[in-house]
Amino acid sequence: MNQTAPISEFEQRRRSLAQELTPLPVDALLVSFLANVRYLTGYMGSNGLLLLSSSGEATFFTDPRYRIAAAAEVSCRVKVSSGPILPDVVALIARKKFRRIGFEKSRLGYEQYEFLRSKLPVRCVLEPVAGLVEKQRMVKSASEIELIRRSVDANSKAFEAALRTIRPGKSREADLAAEIDYRMRKLGAERPAFETIVASGPRSAMVHAQPSERILSKNELVLIDMGATLKGYSSDMTRVVHIGRPSSRIKRIYGAVLEAQMAAIEAVRPGVTAAHIDREARRPLKRKGLEKAFVHSTGHGLGLEIHEPPRLGKQDKTRLEEGMAITIEPGAYLEGFGGIRIEDVVVVTRTGCEILTGTSKELREL
Ligand code: ZN
Ligand code: ZN
Repeated sequence: MNQTAPISEFEQRRRSLAQELTPLPVDALLVSFLANVRYLTGYMGSNGLLLLSSSGEATFFTDPRYRIAAAAEVSCRVKVSSGPILPDVVALIARKKFRRIGFEKSRLGYEQYEFLRSKLPVRCVLEPVAGLVEKQRMVKSASEIELIRRSVDANSKAFEAALRTIRPGKSREADLAAEIDYRMRKLGAERPAFETIVASGPRSAMVHAQPSERILSKNELVLIDMGATLKGYSSDMTRVVHIGRPSSRIKRIYGAVLEAQMAAIEAVRPGVTAAHIDREARRPLKRKGLEKAFVHSTGHGLGLEIHEPPRLGKQDKTRLEEGMAITIEPGAYLEGFGGIRIEDVVVVTRTGCEILTGTSKELREL
């Protein structure tokens, strides 16, 4: 092998992870969570496991359905099992004489755990490991940020295209949601990153409303929360539009939420805690007496998953670092009246942050 050849980004990630394993009582880590497997190997299918030793040796296991895909995608040794893949993992662990096997404690299923416990050589111990790959995934590489940027752009374009199809008095929430999903795919996304939210009138006060048969009508709010998955990477955006001229009450609440969103974005920079951003978002809402109407956290990391650490909530002490991709999405929800949320994706830079979402934040009238 040519030692001077550039190593792939996946190889670099595995090396960094192997270094993290060295101080732990772990000879090898079994990675079972698919987003983590994808992050470390490039594998995009639905049945795969990665065994990574603390010296950096990596073997990826899958089944014959993925033989061709794995050969094209995966950048380490691939073992294609003819039956269930876990017995092959056990066989390799025995052959390599690994003694302490780390597993992802919040990810490995109980059945798989039981299988390993009963089939591994007697001197092997299973060591629960928490959030190791997730921690590494919080800080994005330049190529990951580029993919998130593309996802955000496709999402914004899908939003604009779908808005043009609204026929007040005719379109249902479900019609608009279907239009959004269709446009995303046409613009290069594999799928929506989560179930698209379209909630109109008083239904917009439900933070995670499912699109219904309700007709989009004049003089009502429409809250749209949408995200695309493009080449594996998520985007996430919320905008509120108004059909007809908004009342002064709506304008006032919208103004308060926008102020909160901008204050939070202004506070984003390396070294501050996730909880600090959350506090900064709450301050302007409190001044307007809306603090009780803001019932969720200010944002979340995103990347290969739509919700990843850090969580921008009261409790999260994670310090922001350059390269983290997060959403900023305060809101105010008033039962019987409606809800407003404004959400952008930002990337933490050396001195502050870059807002990736290009869609205007003015309260749009249709
Ligand atoms: Zn969202
Ligand atoms: Zn979000």
